[in-house]
Amino acid sequence: MEQLIPEEVLTNATVIENLVAVAKDAALQHGVLMRIQEAPNSSEVRSNNTFTNNFFPLPVPEALYNQALSLQKHFNTLVDRISQDSEFLKEALASTIEVDDFTSRLFKIHQQVLEEGRSSSITMGLNRSDYMMDQRDDGPVLKQIEINTIAASFGGLSTHTPEVHRKTLHLVGRFKESQRILDNNVAAGLAGGLAKAWELYGSEKAVVMFLVEDKQRNIFDQRCVEYELWKRNVPTTRKRFDVVYKTGSLDQDKKLFVDGLEVAVVYFRNGYMPDQYVSEQSWETRLMMERSKAVKCPDISTHLTGTKKVQQVLAKPGVVERFFPEQPEVAQQIRATFAGLYTLDQGPEGDKAEAMALAEPERFVLKPQREGGGGNNIYGKDIVEVLQGLKGSTGRMAYILMDKIQPVPSKNYLLRRDNPVKMSNCLSELGVYGAYVRHGKDMVMNQCVGHLLRTKSNEDTDGGVAAGVAVLDNPVLF
Ligand code: ADP
Ligand code: MG
Repeated sequence: MEQLIPEEVLTNATVIENLVAVAKDAALQHGVLMRIQEAPNSSEVRSNNTFTNNFFPLPVPEALYNQALSLQKHFNTLVDRISQDSEFLKEALASTIEVDDFTSRLFKIHQQVLEEGRSSSITMGLNRSDYMMDQRDDGPVLKQIEINTIAASFGGLSTHTPEVHRKTLHLVGRFKESQRILDNNVAAGLAGGLAKAWELYGSEKAVVMFLVEDKQRNIFDQRCVEYELWKRNVPTTRKRFDVVYKTGSLDQDKKLFVDGLEVAVVYFRNGYMPDQYVSEQSWETRLMMERSKAVKCPDISTHLTGTKKVQQVLAKPGVVERFFPEQPEVAQQIRATFAGLYTLDQGPEGDKAEAMALAEPERFVLKPQREGGGGNNIYGKDIVEVLQGLKGSTGRMAYILMDKIQPVPSKNYLLRRDNPVKMSNCLSELGVYGAYVRHGKDMVMNQCVGHLLRTKSNEDTDGGVAAGVAVLDNPVLF
């Protein structure tokens, strides 16, 4: 991998001290921030917001970057097509819903909506496909980690990270490199999708409702999207589950009203993890929104499309191909990014995967049906422990097995709150955002709207930016 900054700069104590100051100030001034854990609902200056950044951007091969971006439209199409194929979803998730209560509850809502008939002809998605660059003898290749179809975050903050690295590079005299950092207006792209759906809904007073968490640490990320909506004269509101429960209702046409406002689009920035459904009321609220005429970003079927189980089933021979009957070359391009994915269902195939994992646990990642937050995946020795604990039980079906992707580490300094600044060997993950809107059968928008680069120390196997493990980064193409 290309070394952007010479070793003598990376190890010069005075330079590092200046870089810490500039990186922190620039992150603060440009708003690359999260609220702190101790005060997740306060934006007071004194709350000492967490900045999240590293010193320098990551050199990324231009061909791989372009490959990831050009695939995004196809991933949008794939997600959209799967979400409409209820037979496929039913079959793919059959074993999972037997043992995973959360997925099973989501699936029940999905079925109820199908039985009643969908109330809206407008479907949309804002998703993010994540990749790592797997090290191979003949160079790195792009391998997908997962696709996020609900609450894909950090597009807002990613819009502002370029400014931070432009400044740190400037400070060490890397002027040309500083100019090579790409603009990345993800917030505008995501808002473009929401605005299009809002427009098709066709009521000027109706709002885009952000369904937000009780603890809103990542509010600044969401605000970036909100402000972009305001620029387009789209009214917005932010509501928690409990507020939607107390003040929400459907009228006889299934129009959704919350707190007196008609809702054109529900943008889920919450509702992807079991503990976000604090009571039965949260589930009733989800059902009400799904049954409504409002556009859901995403709807329940699209949410289910983003499960790890669906990802594993897609990797089976002939499955992704089924969704592109007229474009085998597209299916082939998508498939090329798949790492090895293996079922752990009951039966010989699952037994074979289990034996493989037990024999060489370092080669794999064991994944439960969980989204977001990090800390869910299982690695190394723990894989053996978990699989042995589940021997002979159906509990194994709640997991899938995946080849571990091994990127080339790069050297950088991670700036993380309450962590000493030290040079680390870092691993990075490239995310690509997609936005699409379908009206009936017509795809009226299908775009790639930018990227996200996250970097973490190779000592940390799991965990994202929100967990305080990874930091926001920028690619520099070479
Ligand atoms: P989540 O829904 O929790 O985000 P992910 O599949 O994205 O689940 O896994 C979380 C993190 O674990 C990723 O961001 C990545 O750092 C790491 N990871 C996941 N799958 C792999 C893999 N196959 N190889 C290497 N690292 C992985
Ligand atoms: Mg992830």
